[in-house]
Order: sequence, then C-alpha cells, then structure tokens
Amino acid sequence: MARDVAPPRTDALMRSFFASPDLRALMTRVSRVFPLVVFGAVALYEMFAFAFLRHISDTLNLILDLVVFGILGPIVIWFTLRWITAQVEEYDRARAEKAAAEAERQRAIEAAREQERLLAAVSANSADAIITLDNAGIIKAWNRGAEMIFDYKPEQVVGKHFEILLLPEQIARGEIEWLNQQIRERGFVRNYQTTRVAKDGRRVIVDLTRTALQNEHGEFVGYSAIMRDITKRVETERELQKLNLDLETMVAERTYQLASATEELRRRNRELEEANVKLTELDHLKSDFVSMVSHELRAPLTNINGSLELLLENDGAFRDKSSREMLQIVREQSARLTRLVQGILNVSRIEAGQLVLQPQAFDALALIERVINAWEARGAMNPLDHPRAVNLPSVWADRDRTEEILFNLIDNAIKYSPDGAPIHLDARASGEFVIVSVSDRGIGIPEEQVAKIFEKFHRVDRRDSMEKYGHGLGLFICRRLIEAQGGQIWVESVLGEGSTFRFTLPLAGRVEAEAPARSTVGGRR
Ligand code: ADP
Repeated sequence: MARDVAPPRTDALMRSFFASPDLRALMTRVSRVFPLVVFGAVALYEMFAFAFLRHISDTLNLILDLVVFGILGPIVIWFTLRWITAQVEEYDRARAEKAAAEAERQRAIEAAREQERLLAAVSANSADAIITLDNAGIIKAWNRGAEMIFDYKPEQVVGKHFEILLLPEQIARGEIEWLNQQIRERGFVRNYQTTRVAKDGRRVIVDLTRTALQNEHGEFVGYSAIMRDITKRVETERELQKLNLDLETMVAERTYQLASATEELRRRNRELEEANVKLTELDHLKSDFVSMVSHELRAPLTNINGSLELLLENDGAFRDKSSREMLQIVREQSARLTRLVQGILNVSRIEAGQLVLQPQAFDALALIERVINAWEARGAMNPLDHPRAVNLPSVWADRDRTEEILFNLIDNAIKYSPDGAPIHLDARASGEFVIVSVSDRGIGIPEEQVAKIFEKFHRVDRRDSMEKYGHGLGLFICRRLIEAQGGQIWVESVLGEGSTFRFTLPLAGRVEAEAPARSTVGGRR
C-alpha cells in the first residue's frame, strides 16, 4: 500500500541534515554500522549458504544470488533510505513547530512590552494622579497628573513618605493605618473620598483608589494610588445641596406664610362677612329710618309750602318789603327741603325696589315743551330752547318719571351755568331709541369726574361746583330711572365750556307689545 509521503525537499532536507547534530551523529553511526552489517551478511552468506548451495545446484545458487543481491539488497537499501528520510522530515517538522512557537512567544513578549509602554504612557500623561508607593509608604513614582493636581515635581516628592499629602488631623485620626488595614484585608480601597493637601496648602478633594502591587513571585512590593481631583464636583454638589436646602427652607417659609396669610384672609373674610351682615342690617335700619323721617317731613312741608303760597298770594298780608322778601326766602328754602326729602324718598324706594314705573307711549318733544313752559313760568333766568315741528316717533316710558328726569337735568344745567347762558334741549330718533339731550354752556365737568357723577351723593369736588346748593342725588336717581326703562344716560363735557347730558328711551313700537304695564326700579347698587 502506497503511503502519502511528501516528495523530499532535497535542499531543505540537506540543510536540515547538516544543521542537525543528532542526525549527523545518527548518520555517522549508520555509515559505520551499515557497511559492517552488509559485509557480515555477505560474508555469512558466502561462507555457509554459498558453499552449501554450490554443491546442490549452480542454478539455485544463481537464483539465490539474484534474490539476495538483486532483490533483498535494494529492498534493504530502499527501507534504510526511507527511514532516514522520515527521520529527517520528522526533525524538520519538529524544528518548524519549535520555530513557530518561538515566533509566537516573541510576538507575545513584544505585545506585552507594547502594552506596558502604552500603560506607562497613559499613566504618565493621565489627568488623574497615579503614584506608586513601596510597602513603607515611600513615594516611588509620580506622574504628570499628580504634578498638576498637587503642584509637586517628581524630584520634590519621590523618596518621601506620602503623608506629606495628608492633613495633620488626618494623620492624627489614623487615616494611614486605616488605609493599610483595608489593603491588608481586601487588597484594595476603591472610590474613597478624602482630602489631600497640595504644595501651596490648598485642599484637594480626591476620589482615591489604592491597590496592593505584587511581583511575579506573588510578593507584596507596594501600592498604587490613583487620585482623581473631584474638588469642583464636590463643591458644586455642596453648593447645589445648600441651594436646595435654602430653597426648601424658603418654600417652607413661604408655605407657612401663605398658610398664615390664607388663615388671616379667611379670618378677615369672616369678619367682613359679619360686618357686611351688620352693615346690611344697619343699611336697612337707616333706609327705614330715612324713609320714615322723609315721610314724616313731607306732610308738614306740604302744609308749610301751601301756607306760604297762600301768604304770598295774599296781597294784604306782610305788606312791607322786608317781610315779603323774608317770606320769599322761607319759600325757597322750604322748596329745597322738599326736593331733598323727595330725593331721599325716591332713593329709598329705588333701593327697596318699591318705586313703581307706569310706562306708556308718549311724544317726548311734547313733554320737553311742557317742562320748558313750566320752567319759563317759574321765571328761569336762562333761555331754554328746543326744536319744533320735528316728526318724532313715540317713546315707551313712565311719563311722570321722564318729566322728573328732564326737570332734574334742566335744574342742573341752570344751576351750573352763568345767569342768562342758553340751555338747549333736543330729541331725535336713533335706531330703536329716542335720544334726549340737555346742553348747557356752564362750568363743565372735569374728565376724571365724568363717570362718578352718576353715583349716589357724588358731587364734583371743585369750588365753583360746591358753591351751588345740591346733595348729589339727582343724577343717581335719573340713571336708575332711565336704566329701569331700558335706556342709558351719559354726559359729554368740556371743563369751562359746558356739558351735554344725553339719555335714551325705547321707541314705543319696539317694547309696547312685550313690556308689562307696570314695573319697578329695584335693588341696591
Ligand atoms: P346735585 O344736587 O349736587 O346737583 P346731581 O346728582 O344732580 O346732584 O349732580 C351731581 C354733581 O354733578 C353735581 O354736584 C355737579 O358737581 C355735577 N353736575 C351735574 N350737572 C352738571 C352740569 N350741567 N354742569 C356741571 N356740573 C354738573
């Protein structure tokens, strides 16, 4: 059976052959032993087999010669050469394997060296302080990071005990012993936050990792200490904590203040509610009282006024001039008092919701004319005019109350205008309303007071206004009456030039059908 033998590589084999001392020794032995063996074999054959066979037959002798020298001899030589080749190949393979293993080992050594170099570079240039200490704590190596953090040059610290980096109180507290104990027990100290001192005395907060170092025999030869400067981080954290604490305190304070304020507010509210109830009661009492007094005053005043009228009409009584003048004054003052009582009564009724309105359709211009005539009959000092022959649709309102409103506005126009200044009245349709206006050329109203004059008891706080007799009720009553009838009142005024009061009344056609025949002006506002 043919074996799969690779063809011998002569050069390589020869090189291997000469290179190998073992093989050389073997071949020397073979070269000495092989000829002896062959010689011995041939000699034995020639002496015994040849001598014996020669007597039997020449032919057999020839055949035997042929077998021994022609077949067995080459076969022995062939096996011998095969064996040598196999030895050489085996040696070559072993040698190649050895060389490959050696190359691999060299590569590994080189890689380890490279790694070492890299590690050394990383350690040297690391921003963290990486130092090595011997078993006694003496500094042996000091990298660039350590230099930057602690400001010491390697030559200033190498050979010194690492306690130069510790605070005296840390040494007194036994931090060195504690670290050594940790290393003994666990082999390392990891992420230990502590403080170290730089060359200038500056305190550096560090995150320390300390590990015991062993040599290749497993003996402890010192420590490595890696310190990361976390001063800024810790300070920021502390600042944040402080801020947080301040914030929490502030929130707590504010919450407390808020709770107190809410409680105070609730208390005030309760007080206000109680005061309000009392005030409402008082208001009712006051209104009742005012209403009662006004009622009681109205009857005697009507009698006084009537008697005065009679006295003044009677030419025979109080003939002398001064008596009659005094009588005139009494009549004027009595009329004022009557108007005041009437005004207060109206306000009380409005606020009690008792002032009843009786709307009807009527001609606003005709009413204006009537009011003007009445004023002229009373001898008004100011000329009053109004548009005539205007075709105006009827309005839907309480006629008597509208007359009262007009009377009031004209009274004010006269009161707050110089004697003789004209007063102009007008009425014109606008949309679903008729707008009635009363214009004067009087003292006018300051802009900031315009909205307030319709409030109860409000009078313009100016000398020229206060000089005139009044009690600040007229416009309030006018506004409530007009609003109750679905209209509005407002004023346009220029200080020193005059005022125009306008109010609207709904057209009769619009509301007549749906409006009730009677309504009340009601509620407190
Ligand atoms: P009073 O009885 O004081 O006239 P009113 O309610 O009628 O009360 O008017 C309120 C205030 O409005 C008056 O005190 C006055 O200052 C001002 N005022 C009313 N009408 C006029 C006007 N035509 N010209 C100037 N000021 C006026």
